[in-house]
Amino acid sequence: MTDGLIAHGRLAGLDEITGVGVDPARGGYSRHVWTPAEFELREWFTARGARLGLDVETDRNGNLWAWWGAPGPDAVVTGSHLDSVPGGGAFDGPLGVVSALDAVARLQATGFQPSRPVAVVVFAEEEGSRFGVACLGSRLLSGAITADAARALTDADGVTVAEAAAAAGLAPQHLGRDDEALGRIGLFIELHVEQGRGLIDLGSPTAVASSILAHGRWRLRVSGQGNHAGATGMRQRRDPVVAAARAVLAVEQAALATDDARATVGRLRIVPGGTNVIASEVDAWVDARAATDAGTRALVADIESRVQEAVAGSGCTAELVEESWSGVVEFDPELAARLAGTLGGVPLLPTGAGHDAGVLNGAVPTAMVFVRNPTGVSHSPEEFAEADDCVAGVEALETLLRSVL
Ligand SMILES: [Zn+2]
Repeated sequence: MTDGLIAHGRLAGLDEITGVGVDPARGGYSRHVWTPAEFELREWFTARGARLGLDVETDRNGNLWAWWGAPGPDAVVTGSHLDSVPGGGAFDGPLGVVSALDAVARLQATGFQPSRPVAVVVFAEEEGSRFGVACLGSRLLSGAITADAARALTDADGVTVAEAAAAAGLAPQHLGRDDEALGRIGLFIELHVEQGRGLIDLGSPTAVASSILAHGRWRLRVSGQGNHAGATGMRQRRDPVVAAARAVLAVEQAALATDDARATVGRLRIVPGGTNVIASEVDAWVDARAATDAGTRALVADIESRVQEAVAGSGCTAELVEESWSGVVEFDPELAARLAGTLGGVPLLPTGAGHDAGVLNGAVPTAMVFVRNPTGVSHSPEEFAEADDCVAGVEALETLLRSVL
């Protein structure tokens, strides 16, 4: 039964938001927390929830909850996020939100009466694209980041989380661990587009998650001496751009030297950034991931020493500072196996991508469902999921909800 699920060859819910937050410069979508595009998505979610008779509330950390029935303890919660990376794809986040709404709609259409409260959740700033810390909404909710640390985070324009939250109508003094909201979650299931090639290789449209790689973000600051591009001889320079280029190569070499490790510099800022100016500083962000906590720590230690070696003799200095850290997440193996069995024996799959489900896993019972991505590409406009596979994801979520409600 796919009546009403599909519009223009994709899930109707995704079709409804296809024009929101389009990024003409980068391609794809830029939907960052508490920006006009993201506010529009929140309004869309609230309206769509209302169409299903759900009561939508915003918690004190800016996460949205659409309740089917009265909010209460031992709730089954499903959902994901609506924000994106800069120039991101259409599925990362919204697929989980739309699938959750569709699964609820299908349960309602058959007259199903849940025995526990049900909520569809939208977590704020999952990508960390505006304030730098991924899964900010779920970290605040669960206390994985302190309110003080979160309030002080700034975006590229120097706006703090506290200021942006206030502008969005929240009370910044009330940001932080929310025991009431957390205490209601009896089970959280996040459906997400797969961000690698695992399901292509397995030939399955869906899988249940087994684990998430350890990962974190580090700020790499390379400092030199700003000067005139014409008046400064090549041997008199302390050019941090050249030193940073060597540092980036060192990051790559460290990851290549470690089994199953990934390290990425996807963002650089040159200060001040003029064509005829030797820069004074380069800010770079390093994303590093490996299979174990210790392996990731070792990788970052190796990055640090290789970076220092790379910039030695350049007259510049380099400093690596941790911005966020997420240890390896092992989803409850018994729960994962049971859910995979409920879905007829779909595969269990590890992932290298972080998720709100990974943050909440320590606090509440948590599971994830992945939907096949035939491009194997994510955080890019090329990210994709076939309509049939999206429908399979909705059906899987409906089946799981039915089995636990
Ligand atoms: Zn995501």
